[in-house]
Amino acid sequence: MTTIEDGFRAFTSPIHSTVPAHQSRAQNNEADTEKTLVTIGGTYQINNNGEPVATGAAWYGPDDDRNIAFQLPNDLATPEAGELAAILETARTAPKNARMELSIKTLKIIKLLTKDAPRLEQLGWIQAPNAKLIKAIMAELHERSATTTLQAWGTNTPKRNIDETEHLISNNTENPKTYNIHTKVKDEFNTSGLLMSRGTQRLFYKGIGRINHGYHKRRLTRMALAMTHHTVREISLETPSEAQIWKSIRNKDIPRGIRGFLWKNLHGAYRLGEFWQNIPNYEHRGTCRLCGGIESMEHILVECEDSPARKLIWELAEKLWCRREDAWPNIRFGTILGCNLAHFTDTKKKRLEGKSRLFSILTYESAHLIWKLRCERVIKFNNEEDKFHSKNKICNRWISIINRRLKYNKLLTNASRYGEKALRESLVLRTWSGVLLDEDDLPDNWIRTAGVLVGISASRSVMGSFGYLRGKESHTAKHGVHKAFPLGN
Ligand SMILES: [Zn+2]
Repeated sequence: MTTIEDGFRAFTSPIHSTVPAHQSRAQNNEADTEKTLVTIGGTYQINNNGEPVATGAAWYGPDDDRNIAFQLPNDLATPEAGELAAILETARTAPKNARMELSIKTLKIIKLLTKDAPRLEQLGWIQAPNAKLIKAIMAELHERSATTTLQAWGTNTPKRNIDETEHLISNNTENPKTYNIHTKVKDEFNTSGLLMSRGTQRLFYKGIGRINHGYHKRRLTRMALAMTHHTVREISLETPSEAQIWKSIRNKDIPRGIRGFLWKNLHGAYRLGEFWQNIPNYEHRGTCRLCGGIESMEHILVECEDSPARKLIWELAEKLWCRREDAWPNIRFGTILGCNLAHFTDTKKKRLEGKSRLFSILTYESAHLIWKLRCERVIKFNNEEDKFHSKNKICNRWISIINRRLKYNKLLTNASRYGEKALRESLVLRTWSGVLLDEDDLPDNWIRTAGVLVGISASRSVMGSFGYLRGKESHTAKHGVHKAFPLGN
């Protein structure tokens, strides 16, 4: 304690300790004490039910009774939680007055315990992820009188220690032992609340803002990944790994701008909804101007009941899809993020490449257009209702981007121009055949036929939400969207 204000905290929990905190008595010759060396590891995965699973392990040595691996209860599972829980168990069981050296898999954990924890403690642990575990570890470490050294796995870490620790984890994954970890902190070591002397408004907002933003983003990423796991499994009947999800949105088949859009969404990088609601005087920015709900990306893309763009665009995607396929899947936020992993199969479980690819294109192009129209509405039109996109315009924009994708697909089959990067003609044919306009008049291989368009075009009279759809059997002249329906109507 440096000043008297350091003794006061705001937002404390109601439990107060009357027992003064104490440290174990230090041994005179610390260097003579035995040093406990422990290797700490952990994993974080999403299981088949879309639930997060965190596992932690601590390895002391060969055939050592203290070696331990366990799965954490669901409510504590985060990417760091396994290692934190293993550290907590180690700190709890090790003698308090003997040196301890922990070799930790993730470097970030060391930063969390050394640099971040004191700051989080001063700020009262408000909204900090892993707060329960970190608080409990800090309390255990405060109680120790001997040195505790934290070190990240590196070139100096014996390979055997790493292998044995990983082995403990994989054994536990096959045969999970859940461990009800005690995160309760002894009252005398329990500090909670924002330290008043640190609680200047500037620091308060700065500190909270920083924690909130980082936390908010990480939480959004976890949520987005979990939603993706879940929705992809509904279509493909298999759950992709996190790595597969990240890889799928880097696929070069997806246009660059849309890759960035998906990546930012997986990271929760768009400042929407909840983000603004935590910032004084900017709360209104978090509200959807169409319906008054909290405006998350999920809300914009798949939920807002008052958004004509959301409604019309998904109807158009479904209509085009149903020219060839039977059921258009229910589109949720996770379906969009994982659209490139949605693998459709036939009854013999053979992958339907063309079907999967068409689904992916329709999904990401539609979602991206809904987002673009939303930005135009809010930023360019400054939420002025009389400037909002008409239904005709929304339809024309969608038809035009899908036709553009079809056109680029055709161009990209040019092997002499694109070499190895060229798309296979057969793949492009399988993607689009069956959903084209006046297809009976087209040759089987239409790749080099000019003016091929998708089978929905705008009509001059858009009446009701389906007035713009041309029936599959109608035989109208092949002409572009812009001719059939001049923009600006
Ligand atoms: Zn809304």
